Amino acid sequence: MKYIFVTGGVVSSLGKGLTAASLGTLLENRGLKVALQKFDPYLNVDPGTMSPFQHGEVYVLDDGAETDLDLGHYERFTNVKLSRLNNLTSGQVYQTVLNNEREGKYLGKTVQVIPHVTDEIKRRIHALAAHSQADVIITEIGGTTGDIEGLPFLEAIREFALEAGVGNVAFVHVTYVPFIKAAGELKTKPTQQSVAKLREIGIAPHLIVCRCEKPLDKELRQKISLFCNVPIEAVIEEKDVDHSIYEVPLMLQRERTDELVCQLLRLDTPLPNMSHWQEIIRKLIAPQHRVRIGVVGKYIELQDAYKSVYEAIIHGGVANDCGIETVRVDAEEIEKEGGEAILQGLGGILVPGGFGERGVEGKIKAAKFARENKIPYLGLCLGMQIATIEFARHVLKLEKAHSTEFDRNTPHPVIALLDAQKEVTQLGGTMRLGAQSCQLAVGSQAGKLYGAFVVNERHRHRYEFNNHYRAQFEQAGFVFSGTSPDGKLVEVIELPAHPFYVASQFHPEFLSKPHQPHPLFRGFIAAAHQQMHRKPL
Ligand code: GLN
Repeated sequence: MKYIFVTGGVVSSLGKGLTAASLGTLLENRGLKVALQKFDPYLNVDPGTMSPFQHGEVYVLDDGAETDLDLGHYERFTNVKLSRLNNLTSGQVYQTVLNNEREGKYLGKTVQVIPHVTDEIKRRIHALAAHSQADVIITEIGGTTGDIEGLPFLEAIREFALEAGVGNVAFVHVTYVPFIKAAGELKTKPTQQSVAKLREIGIAPHLIVCRCEKPLDKELRQKISLFCNVPIEAVIEEKDVDHSIYEVPLMLQRERTDELVCQLLRLDTPLPNMSHWQEIIRKLIAPQHRVRIGVVGKYIELQDAYKSVYEAIIHGGVANDCGIETVRVDAEEIEKEGGEAILQGLGGILVPGGFGERGVEGKIKAAKFARENKIPYLGLCLGMQIATIEFARHVLKLEKAHSTEFDRNTPHPVIALLDAQKEVTQLGGTMRLGAQSCQLAVGSQAGKLYGAFVVNERHRHRYEFNNHYRAQFEQAGFVFSGTSPDGKLVEVIELPAHPFYVASQFHPEFLSKPHQPHPLFRGFIAAAHQQMHRKPL
């Protein structure tokens, strides 16, 4: 088994996750089985309890693990299915070590960072290796070299490399080469220093991936090679992409990154076949059509809060040869402004998931606007609950209808707490989480789009449609097109009298990939495209 460790230097937000995922794409297309893993140095047990302001999106896996959004990149760029083994936080490491200590498993020893914490980290790499049976394990270490909290992880991978032996481990360091405007030059000093920092810990990177705004010329490559002690071919340019993050694998391939990694790891594999990936890029760069999609949320100013949603919209575009202009609409603005001015001219309106009351009334207005003006609407989780509340208030005339999440005393709790949630007291990891089956109604729009009767989709919620109101909704033309197999939980709703008005209690965005666009997003973008034609830009 072979191991690649991806570390980061100089600054955060370098796109280490994308680099790791792209390497995964290339190796997979060389016929290798890969597994990807993320180590996060923070003390939260998982990111599920963190605010999107802190952490961006919480990415949910089939097994219900709430994980770092980089795992979303891993699943989108490859065909791997991830589980809770693929994301490890310092919080989990310490929780395990402290539990072991309480159980007396350390036989009276003083429990220390080295070896007990580092052993636990190494155990998790071995556990993934055994579970995945992959040829190559790619482990990304979160944070930046030099952070105090990341040290145990770096120490652990240093030890791991020693134990695994030469030719079995490759260290890839992703760094930043800033362009200094005043000097008109790219500067290598921060890279030199971050590599020096790694070497202090005993890790000598084999490959230096340089994130930069401008091309790295030969002279700069020579300089980095000399100061960072790597051959010049191992200095990899990873320039800002022009159009799409999905260009990164092709960029790394041009720099022969996968070839170098395979040489280092003594893997004899054919060149990767990336023709299908190139076709995706062609559609992204030069699409036949264009659509404008509004995402109505409350974390609009954050890049990462709706990461998978934005990506799935792009994939829906690929499926329809449509370029996407995503308009990020602040739900609170709609609350104040009324929305028409903002929402007019959109091909489709999407309301993503969310928690808490802020912005909810704006989202309800957006759903009403979409329903009344026959603009395609896709609701995801909270977006389904919003569509339900809107229909209850304005079509069924159930005054002050609401979700009990936002109004405990509403006279019409059309969305209410799941039964299984009533006894829950702890916040972390206690929602209805992960993949659950959903049965689709024959002849429904959702059924047609999926081309299936039963689908498995990922969930993350505490509230659900209140069955007490089902008959009343149905009589007014609201269709429950997806339910749990026992028929009790509403999973998908739609309005047949509308060109496209579909919403799900689950999160389809987590299962969409550029090479496998999700059916609901494919259908939504197709409808949005038709809508744009009705109303020229
Ligand atoms: N807050 C809602 C619930 O808990 C919706 C959750 C979500 O959108 N992920 O049911």
